[in-house]
Amino acid sequence: MNYLSTRGDRTPRGFSDILLEGLAPDGGLYLPESYPQIDHTTLTRWRGLSYADLAFEILSLYIADISADDLRALVQKTYTRAIFGTPEITPLKPLDRAANAPDGTDVYLQALSNGPTLAFKDMAMQLLGNLFEYQLARRGTTLNILGATSGDTGSAAEYAMRGKQGVNVFMLSPNGRMSPFQQAQMFSLQDANIHNIAVDGVFDDCQDIVKAVSSDLEFKRRHRIGTVNSINWARLLAQVVYYFAGYFQATRSNDQQVSFAVPSGNFGNICAGHVARMMGLPIHRLVLATNENNVLDEFFRTGTYRVRGSAETHETSSPSMDISKASNFERFVFDLLGRDAARTKQLFTTEVEQHGSFTVSADEFSHAASFGFASGTSTHADRLATIRDTYRRFGVVIDTHTADGLKVGREHLDAGVPMLVLETALPAKFAETIALAIGIQPDRPAAMRGIEDLPKRFVVMPVDTQAVKAYLSANV
Ligand SMILES: *Cc1c(COP(=O)(O)O)cnc(C)c1O
Repeated sequence: MNYLSTRGDRTPRGFSDILLEGLAPDGGLYLPESYPQIDHTTLTRWRGLSYADLAFEILSLYIADISADDLRALVQKTYTRAIFGTPEITPLKPLDRAANAPDGTDVYLQALSNGPTLAFKDMAMQLLGNLFEYQLARRGTTLNILGATSGDTGSAAEYAMRGKQGVNVFMLSPNGRMSPFQQAQMFSLQDANIHNIAVDGVFDDCQDIVKAVSSDLEFKRRHRIGTVNSINWARLLAQVVYYFAGYFQATRSNDQQVSFAVPSGNFGNICAGHVARMMGLPIHRLVLATNENNVLDEFFRTGTYRVRGSAETHETSSPSMDISKASNFERFVFDLLGRDAARTKQLFTTEVEQHGSFTVSADEFSHAASFGFASGTSTHADRLATIRDTYRRFGVVIDTHTADGLKVGREHLDAGVPMLVLETALPAKFAETIALAIGIQPDRPAAMRGIEDLPKRFVVMPVDTQAVKAYLSANV
């Protein structure tokens, strides 16, 4: 399988060529040349597989340049009960019941957050850690990952890369602005290859420094600097697996359909659902849930994609969905436009860069529904009400992002079609809002109790690109 860019670059590249890459050289995003089609017989065969074996089957359709034995070893090392807590890896929890549902249940939570950092980003990042280590050893080289985080991405990256050969992580975060728990998760890591840089500024300052360092191409090349942000194709591919795993758990035959409700920010998670559906997984609806930052809900309601300025971006109680633009969205738009790279490029360069928005034509917009998409917005009040209601009726405590997904998912139920709401974080990560909703502190997994009291390893720096560069040079 080769990969192309959504903006037209068709230089043949295999999986291993793009594994360590972010954007394509023309500024587009990588996608496979085509989506492998899964027939009935294959679906039936996959139904009985363990999560790791299923991951192997799906990944091997997209990866031609890693041997089957090596790929199998990599996924088996990643998707274990020791790392993800259960043999199913992403088990379903039944919530609402309905008389007309196939087995009496029609709303489930699919648990994606039992990995080391309690958010779904571990699902892909843990695999990425193993893939990077493997690939760097094969190529006899090293990589220095530079990133900015306000929470979940940074910790997932650090826990995936800690102790890995050939990789260093330099993670910038806004000093004193993450929750004490999120800060402790990252700063308590004592591994020599993990570098926490607390910047005396806000998240945007951190991101600006990363951009400034990365745009110094000579510096970037000399220090072998890379990223692990959500546009990385391997992350997206790893996420395709749990859509299949959820489908198999919620159905008994391949004649059944399911829908998924996905708490969305950068469109990475739900884009993996789109890929699964394009492969032929019987997905009825992909329900996109946003918080008050409803850039994407607006698109699916109106056909207009309008990026927001930082003044317009709300700080909400589901902070991992606080986005001003959705960095993976171009992948879906490319498919929506019949893979017309010239038109995609025009929309994301001329239109977005110059006017901050684009509107697809009525004809183009009419196709969006045929890709299964539906959408909705959830507010702070909705979040609290949903967390409270879920606790009262089912005794289940959910996090704020999952609550957004559940609220919007229930608005798009179809008789006889189970709705799988993706649980994107555990409530322990967002304890303050949970306490506000239900008056009690959510449970923490045993390994995370008292982490705020552990010794911390980090450096504090001013908002100064030169200072960060100097630190990088001294520590790579
Ligand atoms: C990252 C994140 C999201 C948003 O996922 P996207 O792939 O950016 O759409 C939602 N919830 C949680 C808890 C996250 O960490």
